[in-house]
Amino acid sequence: MISLEEARHYVLAGCRPLGEVEVPLADALGCVAAEEVVAREPLPPFENTAMDGYAVRAADTAGAPLELAVVGFIAAGSSGDVPVGPGEAARIMTGAPMPPGADAVVMVERTVDLGDRVRIEVAVDVGTAVRPAGDDLGVGDPVVRVGDALTPAHLGLLATVGRSSVRVVRRPRVGVLSTGDELVDGDAPLARGQIRDSNRPTLLALVRQAGFEAVDLGTARDDEVTITTAIAEAVSSCDALVTSGGVSMGDLDYVKVVLDRIGDMRWMQVAIKPAKPLAFGTVGGVPVFGLPGNPVSSAVSFELFARPGLRKLAGRRDGDLVRPAVRAVAGEALGRRPDGRVEFRRVVAAVEEGRYVVRSAGGQGSHQLAALAAANALAVLPDADGVAAGEEVEVLLLG
Ligand code: AMP
Ligand code: MG
Repeated sequence: MISLEEARHYVLAGCRPLGEVEVPLADALGCVAAEEVVAREPLPPFENTAMDGYAVRAADTAGAPLELAVVGFIAAGSSGDVPVGPGEAARIMTGAPMPPGADAVVMVERTVDLGDRVRIEVAVDVGTAVRPAGDDLGVGDPVVRVGDALTPAHLGLLATVGRSSVRVVRRPRVGVLSTGDELVDGDAPLARGQIRDSNRPTLLALVRQAGFEAVDLGTARDDEVTITTAIAEAVSSCDALVTSGGVSMGDLDYVKVVLDRIGDMRWMQVAIKPAKPLAFGTVGGVPVFGLPGNPVSSAVSFELFARPGLRKLAGRRDGDLVRPAVRAVAGEALGRRPDGRVEFRRVVAAVEEGRYVVRSAGGQGSHQLAALAAANALAVLPDADGVAAGEEVEVLLLG
């Protein structure tokens, strides 16, 4: 067996960032920027009011309460060309340009509307409730840097500087293939010995949840020709391939046979539980993750190996590939015995008194998908005697 770190290191070494493309902002969420974008104009573009109220000359408000003459109304979107002279005020709405002559805004809550006059109840300083031009971004300030993973706010910033598209590392297209003669699709009745394919919907959703394009490649029988064709087609149309099943020591584990023949693969026994067997390599230069068949194993293997590898294809940086571990408290004993492997126990993490507390999510067999569905975290139990109730434990928060 090799360590998790060694296996992951090997996987990450085989994953290189994809090429760059220009995409509309609507398609850029989560992608990694491949260009630096700087502001070409100041943001905000003009001095404007942060509040609904009255634009005034601050000096006129000394000695408030007092009254000023109302000389106009300035809505957001208007040009604001309502000069404000001594003893005057202009009614103004949030976001509207500051009128010439005014240097402060009195919020409407501190005024009384008297028709063509306004009663000002407080004195304000120069600049009160005024947002200067360039207060957010100055000309030349970076909006997005190469390597930034684009958030919703980045997309807003790009739009605000007039961009409708952005150059990014291509979003990986990831094929998902199930293998096994026992697998049945959909709600067809099960003959004895058959089960329904649960890995494909799980893995397709994990791919999408990780922010990638998921391609459903269906189910392949345990037959060398069928599997060869499915894998060859997959690598010609996808940036990466995730298979499940057929990588263990069974007589009909043809995924292993086929990948050995057409790919450059490494077969690993990783010192973790679940998900000990892992195949990773490339076929025609395309990374292939051969995940184990057991439903919990394939999902945990995706989390520990495929997700970081795919994030690397997507251009994520080294420190941003693996989910960060957080400290939690065991809400109950999480017992185990040493067996040479690190265990990833499916747990429910809840915030209690400001810290995470974790409890088992149910049956921990690698076929017991119900506990994985109930879980929102994996507790990392080192190769030792487990954790007593009240002790600290490291957890990976999922999703
Ligand atoms: P294998 O790795 O092919 O030996 O499969 C290990 C276990 O996982 C067996 O019990 C399979 O029936 C089960 N299995 C494999 N593929 C799937 C799948 N797509 N959905 C549900 N169970 C599966
Ligand atoms: Mg199988």
